[in-house]
Amino acid sequence: MTENDGKSMLPSTRSVLIPLIFIVLVVVLIVLTFLGIAGVNILDWFQDSPQQITYERILMDTHVELTFYTEKDEEKSDQIAQKTFAEMQKLEEMFDRGRESSEIWEINENAGQEPVTVANEVLGLIEDSLYYGEKTRGAFDITIAPVMDLWGFYGNDPQLPDRREIEEKLNSVDYRWVELDTAEGTVFLPREGMALDLGGIAKGYVVDRGMEVLKEEGIEHAFVNAGGDIRVIGGKPGEDDPLWKIGIPHPGSEGVRRDRLAARVPLHSSAIATSGDYERFFEKEGERYHHILDPATGYPADELSGVTVIASEAVEADILSTSIFVMGRQEGMELVEELEEVEAVLITPDDEIYYSSGLEDILELSG
Ligand code: ADP
Ligand code: MG
Repeated sequence: MTENDGKSMLPSTRSVLIPLIFIVLVVVLIVLTFLGIAGVNILDWFQDSPQQITYERILMDTHVELTFYTEKDEEKSDQIAQKTFAEMQKLEEMFDRGRESSEIWEINENAGQEPVTVANEVLGLIEDSLYYGEKTRGAFDITIAPVMDLWGFYGNDPQLPDRREIEEKLNSVDYRWVELDTAEGTVFLPREGMALDLGGIAKGYVVDRGMEVLKEEGIEHAFVNAGGDIRVIGGKPGEDDPLWKIGIPHPGSEGVRRDRLAARVPLHSSAIATSGDYERFFEKEGERYHHILDPATGYPADELSGVTVIASEAVEADILSTSIFVMGRQEGMELVEELEEVEAVLITPDDEIYYSSGLEDILELSG
């Protein structure tokens, strides 16, 4: 009896359940359709959307901002940021000629005496510098150090040197004299008084290497800005327009105008760097003297007041922004047009803006 009763219950349960499931399915479908129309992505409920997180640090004598998007928890994000900053700091110390016992300091100490064995990073960076020295016909010259020291831009008391002193120091400046032995891993400055200054390239390289750490950690969307040397990974997630919009500062003929932008440029997976006469300077008798020197004269280059370069890597953007600043409008723009995947915005001391052909349709000029 009990068995029969159990069996007899089945058909009636089924007759209730089937229409019920049907009704539930219809309701679920209506709700999903409604949410779809309302712009709610149901997948988001099952998947954490990446959070934007920003860290800041003083590195390379400048303010470094690191922003990335991640689904990882806060502790893991903190670890990733620490690892990135640690890598950047390690390299910064290696390239800092003012830091006693850094590799560049060692090279300079041994000028006119003997070759110094250096890390691959240092060798690579010097090799790149010499390559661009050639490409820019000497506008970019990492042996500018003795003249830089004379001006004292890195001390507390920069000053206008005597013309004869500048001429004398210029006798120690020529990138073609640097002896690089890649097989042996050594660098030699053959003349006493010679010295290297990687200030025009190191920041970009350090930014690139920081980004490598983020990529290794699986980060797919990131932005890093080291005092105007910027690199982005991927686009900016969660927006209709996934491009990063980077502001180009306006040097301003009436003085430094950090509040004013000359233009904005959209970026995706690339780099941008700016060199300006307003970054590090002093004024004497109404004249502005800044830290980007023309190796041909030993004086600050004065044809332009701001140069922004877009390239695939920050190191290239950094070198070229300094170089083009020295080369000036005509020669500088010719170089930009000649190089693949390199664009630039040049601003003159009287606020005129020139940009390369590839920016024609994408640069957003400010009114
Ligand atoms: P910032 O460091 O302000 O971003 P730059 O990238 O243009 O600016 O680098 C300027 C630095 O480059 C100077 O402080 C100096 O260390 C170095 N430098 C100056 N003139 C030259 C030059 N003609 N070639 C190579 N390096 C230079
Ligand atoms: Mg530069």
